[in-house]
Amino acid sequence: MSSDLSTLISARVRDVPDYPKPGVLFKDITPLLADPVAFAEVVTALAEGHAGEVDHVVGLEARGFILAAPVALALGAGFVPVRKAGKLPSRTLRETYDLEYGSATVEMHTDAISPGDRVLIVDDVLATGGTGRAAVELVRRAGGTVVGFSVLMELGFLKGREKLSDVELRALTSV
Ligand code: AMP
Repeated sequence: MSSDLSTLISARVRDVPDYPKPGVLFKDITPLLADPVAFAEVVTALAEGHAGEVDHVVGLEARGFILAAPVALALGAGFVPVRKAGKLPSRTLRETYDLEYGSATVEMHTDAISPGDRVLIVDDVLATGGTGRAAVELVRRAGGTVVGFSVLMELGFLKGREKLSDVELRALTSV
């Protein structure tokens, strides 16, 4: 992780306390997305090192889509959405994971990834790692190989990295 890039990201990701609920410090990436130079640098950094080795880039709903789509184009790869339950129109694979209270389910179209496909997963923020872990399982159940997992920002104190110890995880900045 370059310290220049990390500084650039930190300056453009806004902390919003108590959103969406009390006690959560929300990392708002909209100021970064509104800056075309910073946005382009982040996309380049998320894609770095993966040229020629990726068939599909998986983006995690919702902000992961915004980053994963340009990363896919930069790598000459296709974009695949992993969405919250009930949003994808065709047949899906589903993964359910535990939240602090309750559970969440994410889905991917059954035909989005083919056996042998090499896949890079991209999201904005890695928090507890539950969503990321579920995405890795979806790709593997479809027969794909996860060649990397790239995030803009890792919330280190939530230890999401521990849930992704079997994938090559890259965080452009860690707080
Ligand atoms: P988790 O499954 O706990 O790793 O949460 C990851 C997902 O939730 C990502 O798709 C993030 O967009 C979102 N997320 C979790 N915590 C935050 C936060 N503090 N600020 C912004 N987004 C968050």
